[in-house]
Amino acid sequence: MNKIRATAEHIYNSLMGFVYPPQCVICDSLHEGDKFFLCDKCSRSLDFYSDPYCFKCKKPLDSSTDKCPACGGSRLISKTWACSSYDDFFRPLIHSFKYQGIIPAGRFLSRKLADLMANRLQEKKIDMIIPVPLHPLRERKRGFNQSVYIAEELQNELDILIDLDVLIRIRRTKDQTGLNREQRKKNMRGAFKINPKADLEKKRIILVDDVTTSGATASEAARILKEAGAREIQLAVLAIAGHDIQE
Ligand SMILES: [Zn+2]
Ligand SMILES: [Zn+2]
Repeated sequence: MNKIRATAEHIYNSLMGFVYPPQCVICDSLHEGDKFFLCDKCSRSLDFYSDPYCFKCKKPLDSSTDKCPACGGSRLISKTWACSSYDDFFRPLIHSFKYQGIIPAGRFLSRKLADLMANRLQEKKIDMIIPVPLHPLRERKRGFNQSVYIAEELQNELDILIDLDVLIRIRRTKDQTGLNREQRKKNMRGAFKINPKADLEKKRIILVDDVTTSGATASEAARILKEAGAREIQLAVLAIAGHDIQE
């Protein structure tokens, strides 16, 4: 029943954009652009990344290298793919998707992320895409898991299947806003478990989340995926928070 209501809500929210005058979610202007949630001016100001980044030091990585030459890389996550930094343009765009249910905004960014990965992902085979699960109570409250929408676009573009049954959220964690890096790490500890039926032996995985900040959520998910046998984890997010590009 909740699923039906959530779907109805999405359709309603999406239709709102067509019924009401198109208003840009970034600058609030009424506009005549082809996307109801984004005006042409803001659209032109979006600065998309063209490289993957090191999960640990957030420096750009050549997509052919597995180890970051600057810092040696993260033990858990080999690289991060992102549309951009979580700046004044991407923040309201992602918020409109996540908190106002403007799904087309999420789809638009997810498709950009998928395009980048399709162009730059190396030949080696990725076995599965795993969206970071929300706690069931939080998902019910929001009506959807934003990471699943992102993962769906990656699945379509990259032709790699999503697996929703591997990673299970078992603990409801505090909102991470206002917590420092150490507190976030502690907050996420034990948040997930692996489905005992999953076969992760030597699997290469793309983990999907909406935004990465301290990396605590992705690290905890990657930690238990690796403990269960996964060989490599790459992270795909819409934006990297606290990221000034260091070329
Ligand atoms: Zn605008
Ligand atoms: Zn690095």
